[in-house]
Amino acid sequence: MKTKILLKEAEMPTHWYNIVADMPNPPAPILAPDGSPISPDALTAIFPDAIIEQEVSAERWIAIPDEVREVLRLWRPSPLYRADRLEKALKTPAKIYFKNEAVSPAGSHKPNTAVAQAYYNKQQGIMRLATETGAGQWGCSLALAGQMFGMEVRVYMVKVSYDQKPYRRSMMQTWGAEVFASPTEMTQSGRHILEKHPDSPGSLGIAISEAVEEAAGRADTNYALGSVLNHVLLHQTIIGEEAKKQLELVGDYPDIIFAPCGGGSNFGGIAFPFFADKAAGKKIDLVAVEPTSCPTLTKGIYAYDYGDTEGLTPLTKMYTLGHDFMPPGIHAGGLRYHGDSALVSQLYDEGLLSAVAIPQMETFQAGELFAKTQGIIPAPESCHAVAATIREAKRCVETGEPKTLLFNLSGHGHFDMSSYDRYFKGELEDFEYPDEAIQESLAHLPKVG
Ligand SMILES: *Cc1c(COP(=O)(O)O)cnc(C)c1O
Repeated sequence: MKTKILLKEAEMPTHWYNIVADMPNPPAPILAPDGSPISPDALTAIFPDAIIEQEVSAERWIAIPDEVREVLRLWRPSPLYRADRLEKALKTPAKIYFKNEAVSPAGSHKPNTAVAQAYYNKQQGIMRLATETGAGQWGCSLALAGQMFGMEVRVYMVKVSYDQKPYRRSMMQTWGAEVFASPTEMTQSGRHILEKHPDSPGSLGIAISEAVEEAAGRADTNYALGSVLNHVLLHQTIIGEEAKKQLELVGDYPDIIFAPCGGGSNFGGIAFPFFADKAAGKKIDLVAVEPTSCPTLTKGIYAYDYGDTEGLTPLTKMYTLGHDFMPPGIHAGGLRYHGDSALVSQLYDEGLLSAVAIPQMETFQAGELFAKTQGIIPAPESCHAVAATIREAKRCVETGEPKTLLFNLSGHGHFDMSSYDRYFKGELEDFEYPDEAIQESLAHLPKVG
């Protein structure tokens, strides 16, 4: 049995897969913040043309530029592993595979799109990017990508993470980025929040407002988003395409795929290329795994909402908990987003994708078992996929089914060891977001149609 299933550099995919080509219905249109129809041109203040084209494209295959592939080769193709030590520990008849996206320099899947986005901006003569970051993963990824193409990067980092994750900040600075704790006094959105909540710990929604405001207000600066948007999921499909080729090498095919789901990019990245087979009639279950504290797919509603807290972004139809939903300070920072990808949301609404919510303690227990068997310490976000996979593998113990399971190890947890510390000290809690609080923020959804 092979432990690592590797592709040669020359076998790295040459095209991204666009799921829109295989969706039963076209994606719901994007609307302007006031609910009126929007033309893609309205996005040119913050995005380059190539990205806007990809955002609305229905073409099945989109070529990955050579310049992007050259940078991706620094860590891609990423290895696919057979987690046989975990299988033995669980005494499961299931086969468990995982794709290791922790091998990128920034430690997660996010550079897959950061590199592409930086490239398309540079191609259009934009040499400065503004963005937000929650736990620091995306900020690091864009800082790295900007550095590879000689661009300036400014990052609005959610204040609580800025204070708790000083090494993520140092990494961004090492790659040449400027980093500020959000909310800041530098933007109207930041000042507006600070007036109401001077001690605001910040949120991803607020930091997005700040970065978008800066990009919209400066001709030399564009915005880059690390998840949610169609083009981001498109860039991540290289994960699933590689995984498919790697499984072919060992003659396997997954029955179920699990991935953590915050905005949906690593889930879409690993799952969408397999959706093409599902659309063609193959039986496969694609499962997004979210925290019970931020249960967007499992407890939110499918409606038009803003992507940010302040209501500056266009409206997309998505599963949402309400744009002013304040998720509790759980340790999987990358999963604390009120909304979700429009593509994931629509397919979930149509019953073509599944979702499960898992409490925090169970995810860290799963991460600990994974680290003790497979060696790699998963990011708290990735622990969600590990936990869902373990649940299924245990089910297989009961039923005796030798299912083939694949999950995405979206990142490592080397900068999250204070969260593991709290888990080991027994200080972590489960948090089920109360239904009343969800109803409260859903009452503030924009009125559309
Ligand atoms: C950002 C992040 C996530 C969640 O974001 P998605 O867009 O849903 O993929 C998951 N895992 C890691 C390691 C992350 O950094």
